[in-house]
Amino acid sequence: MIDETHDPARASWVASANGHALFPIQNLPLGVFSPPGGGARGGIAIGEKIFDISAALEAGLFSGAAREAAEAASGRTLNPLLEAGPAARQALRRRVSDLLDAKGADAGKAKDLANRLLHDAASCQLHLPARVGDFTDFFAGIHHAHTAGTISRPENPLMPNYKYVPVAYHSRASSVAVSGGTVRRPNGQRKPPQQAAPDFGPCRNLDYELELGVWVGTGNDLGSPIPIAEAGRHVAGFCLLNDWSARDIQSWESQPLGPFLAKSLSTFVSPWIVTAEALAPFRMAQPSRPEGDPAPLPHLNDAADQANGCYDIDFQVLISTPKLRAAGAEPHLLSRSNASMLYWTVAQMVAHHTSNGCNLQPGDLFGSGTVSGLGTGAAGCLLEMTRGGSNPVTLHNGETRTYLQDGDEIIFHGIASSPGHVPIGFGECRGTVTEALPLG
Ligand code: CA
Repeated sequence: MIDETHDPARASWVASANGHALFPIQNLPLGVFSPPGGGARGGIAIGEKIFDISAALEAGLFSGAAREAAEAASGRTLNPLLEAGPAARQALRRRVSDLLDAKGADAGKAKDLANRLLHDAASCQLHLPARVGDFTDFFAGIHHAHTAGTISRPENPLMPNYKYVPVAYHSRASSVAVSGGTVRRPNGQRKPPQQAAPDFGPCRNLDYELELGVWVGTGNDLGSPIPIAEAGRHVAGFCLLNDWSARDIQSWESQPLGPFLAKSLSTFVSPWIVTAEALAPFRMAQPSRPEGDPAPLPHLNDAADQANGCYDIDFQVLISTPKLRAAGAEPHLLSRSNASMLYWTVAQMVAHHTSNGCNLQPGDLFGSGTVSGLGTGAAGCLLEMTRGGSNPVTLHNGETRTYLQDGDEIIFHGIASSPGHVPIGFGECRGTVTEALPLG
């Protein structure tokens, strides 16, 4: 639903928000942060600042439903707000938008309290915004599925279920971490084709996967599937997600039950939950399925979802290497993609996930699957970009990569834009590879 919070004419008295590439007043993403010397608490990104929800509560700036929502968003995790559902998020959004609006009814009052309400984002530490109960990783990027399948099964790249089932696996929640840290190269079992038996040692084919992350809001009771028409009410918001992947470990361990240690080494998410409400102007029709593809089965097929269940979000993947950093050079742009490349909508993922009665819970996290477009310039991981490591990619300083080396940093950006609306951003999902632990 588009309302006054999306008004492109709305400007903030927080000067850095106006024209900000990521966090203008039309965005207001939710997160958890610690200011210098302070404890973790809920906040909202606005320009180069973070709006402190508990400080605003203490100042008496909320009442009614907005106050209840602010209380649910003021603690060390946002799970209580996620549980409270779309009406609570919307009440909070409308009130905070009004407080930060240069022409808002209480703008003067809020501005007088600016020293208490706002922190410099650069001096704050950002945390995982919610406690993740379960993490499910989908496989909805059809170009990724096709290219990855071509490398291992050239004659039959897509499995026969792909266009019927939003394929997914249960991944690990405990190793989901917020952007900005390091990921340690895992040790694991490796068995290259030319080797008769596996050995144990550092992953040689460490990769990233560009994915759209989905934060689940209100859950469902065990045994009560979520009909696709109601799926949107259970989606609280979105983030960027890097599903670090150890390809050599993955190819050996995945038969027959799918990936395990190749994926659970860690998954990074961008710190801010860009809410479903903030993204309302950037929804679009799900692209038509190619001629000859089956229609989704009835429980996954909803006219409203097909008409606006897709998101126009542009992604970029960049790499910074130790050599690039030492030279003071910019990161190298590896690829660009868009969330509209996904074969399945988020509502279809929710409906499928719960269609057997499985219960989702507030703070559950989905990965969309690697969001690749067509061609190597739109590949969402190195497996695709280098054709399984056989075609190295050359960076702008002449370095080459097949897979990631120690010290390499991977950076994702995401921007949603649409004519007539102020573009909004996700903030970075960034992580650096560190060396494997020594063996025994
Ligand atoms: Ca993945």
